Amino acid sequence: MTMHIPFDNTFAALPSGFYTAQPPTAVKAPSLLAFNEALAAHLGINAPDADEIATVFAGNTVPDGATPLAQLYAGHQFGNFNPQLGDGRALLLGEVIDQSGTRRDIQLKGSGPTPYSRMGDGRAWLGPVLREYVVSEAMHALGIPTTRALAAVATGEPIWREQGALPGAVLTRVAASHLRVGTFQVFAHRGQIEELKTLTDYAIARHYPQADGPMSLLAAVCTAQAELIAAWMSVGFIHGVMNTDNCAISGETIDYGPCAFMDAYDEARVFSSIDQQGRYAYGNQPRIAVWNCAQLATALIRQMDDMDAAVEEATAIVHAMPGQLQAAWLKRFGAKLGLSAPTTEDQPLIEDLLALMQSNGADFTNTFAALGSDTVRDQFTDRDAFDAWHSRWQARVASEPDAAALMTRSNPRIIPRNHRMEQMIEAAVAGDMAPFQREITALAAPFDPKSDPDLMRPPTQQEIVPATFCG
Ligand code: AMP
Ligand code: MG
Ligand code: MG
Repeated sequence: MTMHIPFDNTFAALPSGFYTAQPPTAVKAPSLLAFNEALAAHLGINAPDADEIATVFAGNTVPDGATPLAQLYAGHQFGNFNPQLGDGRALLLGEVIDQSGTRRDIQLKGSGPTPYSRMGDGRAWLGPVLREYVVSEAMHALGIPTTRALAAVATGEPIWREQGALPGAVLTRVAASHLRVGTFQVFAHRGQIEELKTLTDYAIARHYPQADGPMSLLAAVCTAQAELIAAWMSVGFIHGVMNTDNCAISGETIDYGPCAFMDAYDEARVFSSIDQQGRYAYGNQPRIAVWNCAQLATALIRQMDDMDAAVEEATAIVHAMPGQLQAAWLKRFGAKLGLSAPTTEDQPLIEDLLALMQSNGADFTNTFAALGSDTVRDQFTDRDAFDAWHSRWQARVASEPDAAALMTRSNPRIIPRNHRMEQMIEAAVAGDMAPFQREITALAAPFDPKSDPDLMRPPTQQEIVPATFCG
């Protein structure tokens, strides 16, 4: 064994009721699909040969210093409370301190059953594993807080989904932590106040050391979530399953399931096949983030001595969130239009463009990327209406000396387009990893004006992928 991971585990030192110790289940024939060497170096992991990496990140060998465990949590799924969820197909191997001094979880996803698997098989198939790999790395390159992908390993075992037998795979995910709103909910719901206090202290120490108690932790999480959701909105990202168990305390994007980036702008856009009501539609995401933080508030206040005062304080914090979201949204979308210090007076300019994009079916990414060039008109069928808007914008942006540079770094050229993700998965199932590599390379520099034009192209009618699945 030559592989070395400098584990420094703290979650495993929490009381046993926080998790179940559980080794991964070995798979038949691990083979390495992808390994993120730059991230490995950042984590202080030395990368030996591919076979050894595959063995470790398939879960066939537990590396020295790892304390594999399945974390306990609860959560509201589509608004309904489930008192016990937990890692049903994931295992925390442990933590390392990265080169910037941040503690990072290393987690296997798809590593076999745990006591929290319920009816599930504990496994993942190749499609969602590669999708999460590519999309999470793309988010990172876009500068949006996210979990990262360290490795993807094929298991050599078939797994069964609605579509039939599919190739199995394991993703190794790296996160600032896997503490979720649901981690707090499980102890609050059970009335385990000591555990709730321990968890609160742990979360503060790990993520918000400046916070001086549960209510200031709540405020910090609300701020982080407001910033995160505004960032998602600014790139047309739809998470798809914003359940409270998929809402990370750290403020990172977590749990890439049926997520997608929009092509044509549509406020009501939904991709997830299981989101029949559109609860997690693009335009609903800010409201849902507030709702999720309200659930965190409800859980956190259970530990407070003066309940009336706590309710009042928590309510004020959660009620401040829509304003934070609005401010973060304005800053992000203002930047996309080249406005360095947008005010509420600029809001109609932004909203009117979005309304035109909506009614004209304009491509979200390509419209913003083309603003300032002659080709932007091509995105609109109602050219007169666009020209009128464009004149207003030009008048406003004339007083912004650095508009062009600001727009270049605020408007990505390359996003992981849904049809490309499907094509990439189809190729990988057939043993061809070239489309995966091409996406990874292009998405590492999403703001590069010289991006691969073929990957910037929206889907043709035939290529459109109307729905995405959880996997
Ligand atoms: P999600 O909404 O995808 O994050 O998952 C919700 C819950 O279902 C979590 O507790 C997961 O661990 C669990 N889960 C999802 N897929 C599986 C699976 N294939 N086997 C076991 N548990 C699963
Ligand atoms: Mg989840
Ligand atoms: Mg999931």
